[in-house]
Amino acid sequence: MTKFIAVVGGVISGVGKGVTTASVGKILQEYGFSVTAVKIDPYMNYDAGTLRPTEHGEVWVTDDGGEIDQDLGNYERFIGINIPKKNNLTTGQIYKTIIDKERAGKYLGETVQFIPHVPNEIKRRLREASQGYDVCLIEVGGTIGDFENIAYLFAIKSLERELGKENITYMLVTYLPIPSHIEEMKTKPTQQAIRLLSENGILPDFIICRGHKPLDAIRKKKIEVMANIDKDYIISEPDIDTIYRIPLDLEKEKMGEKLLTQLHLKAKKKPDWNHWKNLVNGLTNATKEIKIAIVGKYVDVGDFTLADSYLSINQSLSHCSANLKVKINIEWIDSKIYEANPSKLKGLSAFNGIIIPGGFGTSGIEGKISAIKYARENNIPFLGLCYGLQLATVEFARNVCNLEGANTTEVDENTKYPIIDVLESQKKILEESKYGGTMRLGAYAATLKKNSQVLKLYTETKRIDKDEELLKNLKKKKDQDFRLGVLQKSQKTILERHRHRYEVNPKFIQQIEDKGLVFSGYHERTDGTKLMEFIELPKNKFHIGTQGHPEFKSNLEEPSPPFFGFIKAAME
Ligand code: GLN
Repeated sequence: MTKFIAVVGGVISGVGKGVTTASVGKILQEYGFSVTAVKIDPYMNYDAGTLRPTEHGEVWVTDDGGEIDQDLGNYERFIGINIPKKNNLTTGQIYKTIIDKERAGKYLGETVQFIPHVPNEIKRRLREASQGYDVCLIEVGGTIGDFENIAYLFAIKSLERELGKENITYMLVTYLPIPSHIEEMKTKPTQQAIRLLSENGILPDFIICRGHKPLDAIRKKKIEVMANIDKDYIISEPDIDTIYRIPLDLEKEKMGEKLLTQLHLKAKKKPDWNHWKNLVNGLTNATKEIKIAIVGKYVDVGDFTLADSYLSINQSLSHCSANLKVKINIEWIDSKIYEANPSKLKGLSAFNGIIIPGGFGTSGIEGKISAIKYARENNIPFLGLCYGLQLATVEFARNVCNLEGANTTEVDENTKYPIIDVLESQKKILEESKYGGTMRLGAYAATLKKNSQVLKLYTETKRIDKDEELLKNLKKKKDQDFRLGVLQKSQKTILERHRHRYEVNPKFIQQIEDKGLVFSGYHERTDGTKLMEFIELPKNKFHIGTQGHPEFKSNLEEPSPPFFGFIKAAME
């Protein structure tokens, strides 16, 4: 039977509930359990696909094409499994299912009501997501006391009755502020959160105390009395240097053993943290230092945290840091500065590598293209992600193939040389698919060219073997066949996630290849259409672009091959 851990937040959101959930998952994995995680987002949007990245951070893409809140990314980065889109519950989805069912006459004369229909649908989804796993973590977004969380807490409490208390444990992640004028850690908001949670019939089994500093004995005692739980289950989780240290810190407080006790589980294996510890040390005790420029677009919008809209790229670079023991100093550069002031391009010579991340629309595009030209001409390692591949192809067409005015039709519909375009056949297939829209979303197979740099990268990081396993499983599931397309038996295939609409225009491929840019990977549709997945310029140290988003499959223990290769080249 699957055991559940419900993680809820108190006091304020944004204190690391997702990372705590992911860390707890990692700990249980070390004890030999198979773990999955569910994120509940109480908003009415159906998914995160239409949320503004500058407000909500980046949209996370799953293997099965879901556009999801980035917490699923946190789970994957710690647990290293591919989490499907059904593991993200939103209020929009719950209500839509119920209303659709009601319209289809599935409730046969019943009055459809908030209770029990909404919690029932929530429970159905939780059970479905947990199937086949030893442990399922459920993170409830927001904080206790939010109106929109009521149905979820009700559902979880009702799940407890059905499963028995020994099969579910509650974890409250709370925050202890230290107001600067008194310099004292306050427990009152935590006490209030405990009370609010109890109004839902839930008493926490664990209280994780986040704060700028560790929790001291006096305050632990206060919380112990208020929550009426043993102080051993009140766990201090202060701010630290890297999120990847959290599982190690929680283990110092014997989190694993305590969880097993609560859930009536026996360890399946003895945890071995050596590898993880090594990686964390690689992150914090680097022996080398490099500078990477990320030339992007979202830089000038409002007061958001910039790093959040490129969170996965940031994390992928951290994973390289950990494995290569190198400190990576990232500079976020707004590409528009190169349009206003081309002489600023020279500043790029101070960097060991340049990344052009994904993006949409027309703003800052010429600046990005100039930055790519600068990287190519000065042999500075370059990694282009999605739009980055597209613009690197445009740059090459313009400046090496002399196709003046070459462009993507996303920017110039009437360009004489539409190097990047929406392929008509592609548009039709996507519109007909049940996934809707015209975006290519989720994991697609890419056949890699023999002797290419890309093949070498995927081979030396052992991703080839992992993806071969994954491909076998995907083949079994008929409904995902269209993502595999035609597979070449004699060639190696990998899977990366996608989120884009435009493609390299097949009409120009030969002309571009003749001048030296290699299309080193492609996806072949069953109708014979080939979609370009990778470019590389063999004459440069590292000039690689990928149509996918490899940053969505990077984790601490398995850094993404294109990023890994890029950072290695940047270190040389
Ligand atoms: N705007 C481009 C497209 O839609 C690239 C998208 C991206 O970078 N994710 O094809």
